[in-house]
Amino acid sequence: MELSSLLNRFTEPETLKMARLGRELRAKGIDIVDLSLGEPDFDTPEHIKEAAKKAVADNWSHYTPVGGYLDLKEAICQKFARDNDLVYTPENIVVSTGAKQSLANAILSVVDEGDEVIIPTPFWVTYEALVQLAKGTVRLLKTGLDTGYKITPEQLEKALTPNTKMFIFSSPCNPSGAVYNKQELSNLVAVFERHPHVVIISDEIYEYINYRGKHESIAQFDVIKDRTIIINGLSKGFAMTGWRLGYMAAPAPIAKACEKLQGQFTSGPNSIAQRAAITALTAPLDASLEMVKELTRRKVRVMELMKNIEGFDYTEPDGAFYAFPCVDFYFGKKNGPDEVRNADDLSMYLLNKANVSTVTGSAFGDDRCLRLSFANNMENIEKGFERIAVALNALH
Ligand code: PLP
Repeated sequence: MELSSLLNRFTEPETLKMARLGRELRAKGIDIVDLSLGEPDFDTPEHIKEAAKKAVADNWSHYTPVGGYLDLKEAICQKFARDNDLVYTPENIVVSTGAKQSLANAILSVVDEGDEVIIPTPFWVTYEALVQLAKGTVRLLKTGLDTGYKITPEQLEKALTPNTKMFIFSSPCNPSGAVYNKQELSNLVAVFERHPHVVIISDEIYEYINYRGKHESIAQFDVIKDRTIIINGLSKGFAMTGWRLGYMAAPAPIAKACEKLQGQFTSGPNSIAQRAAITALTAPLDASLEMVKELTRRKVRVMELMKNIEGFDYTEPDGAFYAFPCVDFYFGKKNGPDEVRNADDLSMYLLNKANVSTVTGSAFGDDRCLRLSFANNMENIEKGFERIAVALNALH
């Protein structure tokens, strides 16, 4: 059967591919240490689960409004006021089946065939695929260790053209862990001010997983707020990946367009997850803060472990739960028949030789790096790094 040409425009996410390969080896009885995980290894906090149980008991079982329940939209507006000092009203909010759908809605609502979309590297895999789905043209903006994987205003100014429709970034960043501070955002805003035709997508899903203090949103700058779309969700900060609940805050016309799209794709998001989300977003954040405390402890340990690995070049992540070392020191080295030519090879070598799953940096637009997740317990992290060190030592 001939399938649609749309499928040729994008590929399976490398992150999901690694999860699949890891599962396949595990099914063969091999003890795989998983450092490829893109989700918290914590359980959803009890008070949120209780809210969901109550929603089931109270028969929240019918179709939901396409853009989400009004009282959830209000809770999201309260969250923006509480955490980000941002004023939104329900007409700005669209609730979706995960932040991934929020991103799909936003990109497909704004980007037309041939429109340029600027994405700084390294970036989360899905941004590029969604732009390709929309038939937009991706322009990658390379960043490296020298700037802590953040773009400079000069770089941005140079990259923007009259055809640029959109700019997409995440802070905290998956995979680099880079976090833009207020001054850095303000410097970028000064550039965007000179290019009023550019819509900005600010993916803030790792907002709470920030090791440097207060999260800063680019939407706080009034001059660009009316063309900025904030993407956020419950997956990371509340350990609710499987509940599939994300949301956006956008200028009302974009929010309305996204609702129209969503109305044909999935309709409104899951009723139980939405009721639970109201509790998650309005209750104190103690459980999330506890999770971040544990992630901080692991990050400190991971930094110690990385110091002892020859040839890893990296910065300390300020947010999210990934280390993103540059590993090109190993390119061109061999261990018997195994040759490492690039990060893809190194990631596969570590999977097969060390039985540790990682994600190649090429999945995130940087083919010199590897992403190592510390969303795994301390024992596994230590075991994983020990195995990685042994396998790397065997490369000559
Ligand atoms: N944005 C980034 C940067 C992510 O890393 C992820 C998930 O890995 C998402 C968005 C999507 O999250 P959700 O589970 O809400 O679809």
